[in-house]
Amino acid sequence: MACADELIRRGHAVEVVDPAPGSGASHAAAGMLSPAGELWHGEAELFRLGRESAALWPGYAERLGVALAPTGTVLAGADAGDVQEIDRQVLLLAEAGVAVEALTRRELLAREPGLGRVAGGAFLPDDHSVDPRAVVAALLRRVPIVGIASPVTVDCTVIATGAQLPPPWNDLVRPVRGEIIRVRTASAPATTVRGLVHGEPIYVVPRGATDEVVVGATSEEHDADPVVTVEGVFRLLEAARTLLPGLDRAEFVEAMARDRPGTPDNLPLIGPVAEGVMLAAGHYRHGVLLAPLTASLLADAVESGIVDAAVDPRRFTTDRSVV
Ligand SMILES: Cc1cc2nc3c(=O)[nH]c(=O)nc-3n(C[C@H](O)[C@H](O)[C@H](O)COP(=O)(O)OP(=O)(O)OC[C@H]3O[C@@H](n4cnc5c(N)ncnc54)[C@H](O)[C@@H]3O)c2cc1C
Repeated sequence: MACADELIRRGHAVEVVDPAPGSGASHAAAGMLSPAGELWHGEAELFRLGRESAALWPGYAERLGVALAPTGTVLAGADAGDVQEIDRQVLLLAEAGVAVEALTRRELLAREPGLGRVAGGAFLPDDHSVDPRAVVAALLRRVPIVGIASPVTVDCTVIATGAQLPPPWNDLVRPVRGEIIRVRTASAPATTVRGLVHGEPIYVVPRGATDEVVVGATSEEHDADPVVTVEGVFRLLEAARTLLPGLDRAEFVEAMARDRPGTPDNLPLIGPVAEGVMLAAGHYRHGVLLAPLTASLLADAVESGIVDAAVDPRRFTTDRSVV
């Protein structure tokens, strides 16, 4: 829908074909716009794309009429081992020129008084969040949607079906189940909190104006339907309660599971795969963050054929001569 919106903005006639728009991973996502918080060794290109897209978000949110939550992100470690891991990330971020502030336990508690058993952490002032459901709702108002494709001739088909690509491209994405919880609480943290609790990664994202808080997320490669499991919910709640004990009194709202569309190199697929066929898929953990950049890259590819090499789907397709 983001791609369709951008193409319409550039003067193209576009129709989105989707029998259940907004029901995929985008419905589950926490909405962290967090290139720094997710920076891992060996993911330099993903980080570059994430930062480019994060820079587009303020203007994009304003155009869509959705609110960004410009809170920044706290990283918090529950024990010395967790803090060591965060320290490594802080070093990596500082080397990459990212604004990051290491915090002692006392500084952490001054910033987020609701934190429980934490040993130390850091603050990322530029990692914000947005409500993906509000973004989807805004896009639904802007693009024409039909349930079934009409038999008309088109110049270009863009396949943007998330974790389920049709053949012959189905093996380019793999489903990575993510379970996530929403609760309502009067003790929401002021910022997004990304925690490591005895090695268990957890995040708690406040939903701005409401008292909703998102707690996520599990991550599991699998072949079955993405269902919510007892173990997944238990692990999330246990880690979240350790990090923010005030969540004990929260009202449980929902638990859901969706597949993240993972690719072999964890980078998305944006560009041509056959004559008149483009992909905008495989966004794995960062589809919300990368939405405005994806829309822009896809529209560029449609109009000029220029494709960013890092996301070019042809890096995985053997027969490039068909394009
Ligand atoms: C638990 C969880 C938390 C996440 N948190 C974040 C986060 O904090 N920040 C972030 O940036 N990303 C996050 N993500 C990742 C993000 O949600 C995805 O990368 C993104 O939503 C993918 O968007 P998409 O439009 O490609 O796929 P989807 O949102 O899955 O949409 C796919 C659409 O395709 C439609 N479709 C499927 N098959 C067909 C077909 N044959 N014909 C027509 N239509 C079809 C579906 O109905 C659906 O509407 C998270 C993901 C999960 C699961």
